[in-house]
Amino acid sequence: APHPPLRAIQALPDNLISQIAAGEVVERPSAVVKELLENALDAGATHITVRLEQGGIKRIAITDNGRGIAPEQLPLALARHATSKIASLDDLENVITLGFRGEALASIASVSQLTLTSRTAEAAHASMIDGSTGAVTPSSGTQGSTVDVMDLYFNTPARRKFLKSDQTEYGHCAEVVRRIALARPDVTFSLTHNGKTVDHWQHTEFAKRSASILGSEFADARLAVDESAGALRVHGFVGLPTASKARGDAQYFYVNGRFVRDKLLMHAVRAAYQDVLHGDRYPSYVLALDLDPALVDVNVHPSKIEVRFRDSRAVHQFIYHAVNRALAQTSATSHGATPA
Ligand code: ADP
Ligand code: MG
Repeated sequence: APHPPLRAIQALPDNLISQIAAGEVVERPSAVVKELLENALDAGATHITVRLEQGGIKRIAITDNGRGIAPEQLPLALARHATSKIASLDDLENVITLGFRGEALASIASVSQLTLTSRTAEAAHASMIDGSTGAVTPSSGTQGSTVDVMDLYFNTPARRKFLKSDQTEYGHCAEVVRRIALARPDVTFSLTHNGKTVDHWQHTEFAKRSASILGSEFADARLAVDESAGALRVHGFVGLPTASKARGDAQYFYVNGRFVRDKLLMHAVRAAYQDVLHGDRYPSYVLALDLDPALVDVNVHPSKIEVRFRDSRAVHQFIYHAVNRALAQTSATSHGATPA
């Protein structure tokens, strides 16, 4: 192959840096949905509306009733490496918000037509920033924020080609909403696609939210888990073997409120099922592990689906025993399902 022409080293323009970063942060519409939902929750929202068009490729608009952003801060919200969530290494090691990198909005804005409309409790009216011009103008709206993302990847055609059909992208977006709605039953979520309401989950308690999201098959055949040991607590539900599936698509694990797909945790649950489940079946579960944020590193990767524990052996043992004890109830109560 011919050598590329020799060029002088030069610093990349900011917008290009954001577009490159966008490849990691927003690999598809569902990643935008995740980032915007996390921002809404970090802003203390109790009511969140997700509107999608054409699987999110045409449009993703998320409205929340959270704290909002002051008009003079709107340009900073879209700036790279600008965040209100951490200010020091110490904060990073004890991060309790879902976001902290300050790069999601900048990345999304660099590969879409984005507007952000927001109003704080103090403001007399809402203000809107246009991501492509940076102009801030007065707008209307109640307290909270709306991020409107149109035409994802319109300016990066190479990346746009990697998007799948609207229906496939929609499926990924809906799954992200489910994951987050499961973790936050105290928040009302609604999801529309192409103008039709697909889901509406009124704020409720965890047992009910998980039953409505995972369906009656799981709700009728699940066992409660709630154990604590020192700084660790795990709670949630594990499905009886009868609620197992041929695919592992009903496995939800949260660490400090963050959805994760972590090998160590999945292994611990799997091991606890070993005696009661065939090797080709997947257990269904919704489990939330809460621990001191200093004992877990969530700063592994921008998509933050993996975590690293300070003491992974202790965590593995703890999860294994908690699930094992819950499953032991089945043999104790003969073979009947104990509806929760
Ligand atoms: P991060 O969440 O890592 O801080 P983002 O790029 O996602 O980075 O957001 C940048 C900043 O914009 C946040 O730190 C927050 O102050 C503000 N922000 C973003 N979305 C919202 C929202 N829905 N409501 C209130 N503030 C928001
Ligand atoms: Mg964020």
